[in-house]
Amino acid sequence: MKYIGAHVSSSGGVDKAIFRAVEITGTAFAFFTRNQRMWNSAPLDSVSINNFKKNCITYNFKPQQILPHSSYLINLGHPIDSLLNKSRLSFIDEMNRCNQLGLMFLNFHPGSHLNKITEEVCLNRISDSINIVLEKTRNVIAVIENTAGQGTNVGYCFEHLAHIIKHVKNHSRIGICIDTCHLFASGYDLRTEKDCENTFEKFNDIIGLKYLKGLHLNDSKKDFNSRVDRHENLGLGKIGNVVFKWIIKNKIFYDIPMILETKNSQIWKQEISWLRSQKKI
Ligand SMILES: [Zn+2]
Ligand SMILES: [Zn+2]
Repeated sequence: MKYIGAHVSSSGGVDKAIFRAVEITGTAFAFFTRNQRMWNSAPLDSVSINNFKKNCITYNFKPQQILPHSSYLINLGHPIDSLLNKSRLSFIDEMNRCNQLGLMFLNFHPGSHLNKITEEVCLNRISDSINIVLEKTRNVIAVIENTAGQGTNVGYCFEHLAHIIKHVKNHSRIGICIDTCHLFASGYDLRTEKDCENTFEKFNDIIGLKYLKGLHLNDSKKDFNSRVDRHENLGLGKIGNVVFKWIIKNKIFYDIPMILETKNSQIWKQEISWLRSQKKI
């Protein structure tokens, strides 16, 4: 099965996100379980938890079709101990929220060294953070997203992601989400079918396809290897639409959520239907 959807708004309560996914005919979706730009949020109340679970059953969303995204404030590789701790506590809270909602994934950006520590030290801090978080939480898989390598973000190459995984003790609760815009902006070409094959072959060699738990389908406004993260609608950016057709036709992407985070949300429904139509060709 191909699970295709978008990152929808959870304003008005997490249980409302599902309606927005259904509206655009999504069979997958991403959302924030709390305000993504604030450190503290009220705990999820039992009414919205129950409604969320009820809506999942009504609209036939299984946990493997849902890829919640964590707050942008969290930096699990933070060079300053007090802020690293704050990030860890916040991430634990988000993992617990996902578990309360009966979900199995939490997608997050690995972290930034802020020019205060080396990339390697930052990556080790991220692995340590994940180990602590997994020990203190249950069930949910921590899904690291590859980055465009903008600013001081780590996680812009497969070696970084493999390094983090290598130092995580519980391999059953760690995964990867690949964002096509970030991949292209960080220097992995996706413009032709051959480029796509080469890039995902590298992914398999260095990380392993078994860790792939989700995809973010975005075109890139910026050039190849620009290290700048600007999403564009499918086919309108510098990557073009070959990669998206290739992904839809390729069996290795069965049964994982594929999430649009493209610029203009007004055309998500069209993008989803265009993606679905590629399967028949
Ligand atoms: Zn993304
Ligand atoms: Zn991005």
